[in-house]
Amino acid sequence: MPEGDTVFQAARRLDAALAGQEVTRSDFRVPSIATLDLSGQTVHSVVSRGKHLLMRIGELVVHSHLKMEGEWRVHRPGERWRRPAFQARAVIETPTAVAVGFDLGVLEVFPAVDEEDRLGYLGPDLLGPGWDAAEAVGRIAATPEAPIAVALGEQRNLAGLGNVYVNELCFLRGILPTRPVGEVDLIPLVDLASRVIRANRDRISRTTTGRDRPGERLWVYSRGGERCRRCGTRIEHGRLGRNELELRETWWCPNCQR
Ligand SMILES: [Zn+2]
Repeated sequence: MPEGDTVFQAARRLDAALAGQEVTRSDFRVPSIATLDLSGQTVHSVVSRGKHLLMRIGELVVHSHLKMEGEWRVHRPGERWRRPAFQARAVIETPTAVAVGFDLGVLEVFPAVDEEDRLGYLGPDLLGPGWDAAEAVGRIAATPEAPIAVALGEQRNLAGLGNVYVNELCFLRGILPTRPVGEVDLIPLVDLASRVIRANRDRISRTTTGRDRPGERLWVYSRGGERCRRCGTRIEHGRLGRNELELRETWWCPNCQR
């Protein structure tokens, strides 16, 4: 699942390709907005907000979420798309670029004035200009009994972390994903979250280990049964969450994490 850094990079790419230009053609392939036509409108900006992608066009916002398999690709006019057309959910064309959203998990359009109503629930954006660590710590601390891995992934607490970062941050801080929030030193954890995701913001391949070779970039995520890079103990794997909504895959080193 894409993390905040992936969405940030997608927004930056789309902004560079589209901002300031007039839409010459739009095509939305979801029933609720199938008749919407943005031609003639100006693309003001494309930004990320946590894991949400916002295209500000005319008086509207095209809001998308990549969920599991989604992505936005930018093509030159006439260039062959890099994924099959049947996976396309949105096409936004300008004189110099064709942006195609494939397999988007969420795709909706609302008036720009409604943006706060729609997305104001999100916690501070780790990669946003107004990142507020103290606010994020306060929001996480409000549910002292929640498992820390659930609280870190809750976008109302802080926006931008997906399951990769959640698992890696728990390892880096030496805490089990199941530890209740109330037992965790939150300030250094949130500070680390901000530093690690910012360090990866401009990278092609995400790394939390500081190494950049394939297969060496992560400590525990998706490494069940393999040896801990620090102590050699086998990495464990399980599912965590107090209900279906919170359910997430977790990996941890039973020796390094307590
Ligand atoms: Zn270990």
